[in-house]
Amino acid sequence: MSVQWEQETKITEEEVRAAQYFHGHKCPAMPQRLRAAHLAMDILGVQRARGGGELKAIVEIGDHHFSGCFADGVQFATGCTFGKGNIEKEPLGKFALTLIDLKTNKAVRVTAKYDRMKTCLEMPFFEKRKSGVPPFELDPKDVEPLIEDVVTHDWHDMFDVCTFENYPAAKAPDSFNAVQCANCKEMVVTEYAKELNGEFLCRTCFSARVHR
Ligand SMILES: [Zn+2]
Ligand SMILES: [Zn+2]
Repeated sequence: MSVQWEQETKITEEEVRAAQYFHGHKCPAMPQRLRAAHLAMDILGVQRARGGGELKAIVEIGDHHFSGCFADGVQFATGCTFGKGNIEKEPLGKFALTLIDLKTNKAVRVTAKYDRMKTCLEMPFFEKRKSGVPPFELDPKDVEPLIEDVVTHDWHDMFDVCTFENYPAAKAPDSFNAVQCANCKEMVVTEYAKELNGEFLCRTCFSARVHR
């Protein structure tokens, strides 16, 4: 894919503050991903997602490891969120974001450079995190300079970028169909319900009835 973009979007203090409010604490990982996400959007030439059918983000972080905070930076900057269903976690224990433009199927994968991540892991911020200090109890003096750095440092030193002309991703229409589970009486989206002897059951009740 030919990369034709001129200027990288600047991450404003306002955006960092708003994203920190959403995220819950100050750390370098979340703003690092604001940066990666804006870079991906700049390269694709797309705006933040308003609904579910415009963009799709895939994050490769796993569970319970450092820099999982990345995912919140991605959600905040791209508008690809759990609620809209346009973010997917592919738990590989890696630090890449793939952003797909669902109109064109062009995509960008932005990943953190190994050397940069390695250096970060040796900094006092991470040493303290490793020793069990939660991020919200760290001295802002240890954190603020790192945040300033990740939002201003030349991105070429931070990220590797590759682009895709035709990334396999399709938008799925939202379902507005629902039925009542014959057992628990709760509402269940029809596509998720199971039919048994002419009545609909939610998966929980279906399993209970079939496996009992
Ligand atoms: Zn964090
Ligand atoms: Zn049920």
